[in-house]
Amino acid sequence: MSNMSALNIPASVNDLKIQNYINGQWCPPTTSKYMNSFDPATGQQSCAIPDSNYTDIDNAVRAAKAAFPVWSNTPPEERAAILNRVADLIDQNADKLAMIESQDQGKTIVSARVADMPLCSGYFRQFARCIVEGFTESQSRMNAPCTLTAVTKVENSILQSNTQHVPSGVAALITPWNFPMLMVCEKLAPCIAVGNTCVVKPTELTSATPYLLTMILQAAGLPKGVANFVFGTGVNAGEPLVKHKDIRLVSFTGGCETGAKIGAMAGGLIKRVSLELGGKNANLVFNDCNIEHAVATGVRAAFQNQGEICLSASRQYIQRDIYEKYVQMFRQMTMKEVCVGNPASPNTYYGPMVSQKQMEKVLGYIRLAQEEGAKVEFMLNPNDPNVKSISKDGKLTIKGFEGGYYVAPTLITGIKQSSRVMQEEIFGPVVCMMPFDTEEEAIMLANDSQYGLGSSVFTQDKTKLNRVMRQLNTGSVWGNSWMSWDDNMPFGGMGCSGTTREHGPWSLEFYTETKALYTLVSR
Ligand code: NAD
Repeated sequence: MSNMSALNIPASVNDLKIQNYINGQWCPPTTSKYMNSFDPATGQQSCAIPDSNYTDIDNAVRAAKAAFPVWSNTPPEERAAILNRVADLIDQNADKLAMIESQDQGKTIVSARVADMPLCSGYFRQFARCIVEGFTESQSRMNAPCTLTAVTKVENSILQSNTQHVPSGVAALITPWNFPMLMVCEKLAPCIAVGNTCVVKPTELTSATPYLLTMILQAAGLPKGVANFVFGTGVNAGEPLVKHKDIRLVSFTGGCETGAKIGAMAGGLIKRVSLELGGKNANLVFNDCNIEHAVATGVRAAFQNQGEICLSASRQYIQRDIYEKYVQMFRQMTMKEVCVGNPASPNTYYGPMVSQKQMEKVLGYIRLAQEEGAKVEFMLNPNDPNVKSISKDGKLTIKGFEGGYYVAPTLITGIKQSSRVMQEEIFGPVVCMMPFDTEEEAIMLANDSQYGLGSSVFTQDKTKLNRVMRQLNTGSVWGNSWMSWDDNMPFGGMGCSGTTREHGPWSLEFYTETKALYTLVSR
């Protein structure tokens, strides 16, 4: 039964007592061990995270397995009603959820409230609708009687061919820290909508909002055992989850190296696996673009969410005759608009890196570029009252937030295409720029990457735009735009950026088994 009034979300992440959520109950890890979480804006200890292990995972998988027969046979309309209640509760609590997300992750409260939270509730609404109405004509109602897709004459009989989508079983959902609640909702909504049950293993770095989501799921009336959450590290909790014999499918978003391990573990045990991994995304800016628009989009693509977005445009290639102008305009706009500081302030453009480790990683790439003789600029407004000091490698000290994990908006030019800085995912507020001469060269440079997640092209020549977009080897390509979103479109990467497509009908495909049913009928 739903209990819509029971939500009690505290105002501070420090007041959270994060527990596992197994079979509809909150419980401590069987190890009784907890890890410390840190406020990225101050470096101070915040809340404690369960350090769960195989026993917790096994308990959660058992609960999910026990819940599967009833949930998978629950009429889609009933499942949809619960998903819609989850969406309503996210919307009703969006201010508090956004505040906790900002405190825990370091992203600005504005971006958590305006971008993340509406997308979170949107996924539940979208999949609630689709299991009742279908996405397209070819995607029939989930769990509805078989769909007739073909009739073939076979001698004196007719062969009726039908397809049926059925839920797969117990799913493992493993998520990263850059969009802590959003990444869980993106997987959880389609997974349970189609009738699967699951165990979610959120990242150990930002477990706060995934934990709050368990309160919402319970208050919305999701039956016990349908969605279980186990908090802990990748090694102690993630690996036993992937390897568990009763897990049928694994949906993972995170880094390329982890994805390779999970792919190998899951593949070796013949489990279906979806890998949504990192990116080293390129913007191609041609001399016939609208340069004001290209620069404004380029700044956003480099620095939104501290550059901690798998689609961040960390490589920007500019046609030589507008290169100096673009770089100059980019620098000016960044210095004017990209104010770094307190994530709770509405004037802040971006906040701290998620962790000390992530900050050190980003600073390491900046030092590498300096050692390699590249030109490294920190694009700070000299009159910014927030900035107390900046180190040689771009670490910022912000007034009142001296212990925070801040990195300056960084521009790197004069770097080789083959440099690690140009080839590896930095995942911070660091953008590399390089000139190009011809269209062929631009395409070659953009495609010269192990990754293939996203890319953008800026030109006002529609024929060229179309031609170039079709030659870029990335799962998403934007023309005169970056990261514009349509939830009915496929999302995923090529190469090291991943193996599958999710979102919209593609999520339905991933989270279900498609059966072929043939019936020979006498004429
Ligand atoms: P990560 O790979 O370190 O961790 C992701 C998750 O995997 C965490 O929950 C972690 O605990 C778990 N994990 C780690 N090792 C594991 C193991 N051996 N077995 C099972 N689980 C394990 O990634 P991260 O640092 O949290 O996230 C950043 C990365 O995520 C970046 O590369 C970014 O590009 C990528 N990302 C991709 C997308 C996308 O949609 N393609 C979206 C967001 C982030």
